[in-house]
Amino acid sequence: KKIVVAIDGFSGCGKSSTARQVASRLGYTYIDSGAMYRAATLHFLNQFTVLTNPKEIQKALDTMEISFHHNEDTGKQETYLNGLNVEKKIRSMEVSERVSDISKIREVRLELVAQQRRLGRHKGVVMDGRDIGTVVFPDAELKVFMIADIHIRAERRQKELLEKGELVELKKIVENLSTRDRIDSSRAESPLTKAGDAVEIDTSLLDFEEQVQRITDIAEQ
Ligand code: C5P
Repeated sequence: KKIVVAIDGFSGCGKSSTARQVASRLGYTYIDSGAMYRAATLHFLNQFTVLTNPKEIQKALDTMEISFHHNEDTGKQETYLNGLNVEKKIRSMEVSERVSDISKIREVRLELVAQQRRLGRHKGVVMDGRDIGTVVFPDAELKVFMIADIHIRAERRQKELLEKGELVELKKIVENLSTRDRIDSSRAESPLTKAGDAVEIDTSLLDFEEQVQRITDIAEQ
């Protein structure tokens, strides 16, 4: 029987790479909800949307179409915004620095949560984010909450950015991760918290393979 696996946690704990690998082992679909908030952020930046103006926010949401398409070469899903591949752009520091402020907006969350529920309606999905086990799929059969030491997280993120050609100082990444954690955990609208029934995994103590195997094992039980 196919289930829903919800993977939540702080920024840069390795949720996406873990979730993608777990989905591949289970033969499930992987959905990166953070990519949707990042694409929304890029759209709002492109539109120069004034975040205090509800009409402009609604207009931006009405003209935003986010989708995922499989890239044959990398074997990964890539994010599209209004028909354009934005996978690289949404991972930039510029978007990382704005995304938590856009994710605080109630209308943005209502829209994206509705889209996420539609994407997961047939089960057989692994979705990662901040509120998947608490808000998007409170009935998910398996909920994982990932944590990790901030310096380990920052070093991994720095490496990822470098692989994409962006050299960013470690200090700036630590700042970005902790600012996002703070905004994500304290916002009025579905703040980041661990679901009562989530399994907590500290990824500073496990290596990637162990963490993937642990989650896959629980999912298969
Ligand atoms: O997962 P990722 O780090 O790409 O997410 C980027 C940002 O999107 C988070 O810092 C958070 O502000 C927002 N987000 C969210 N709810 C989710 C997923 C991401 O608010 N389910």
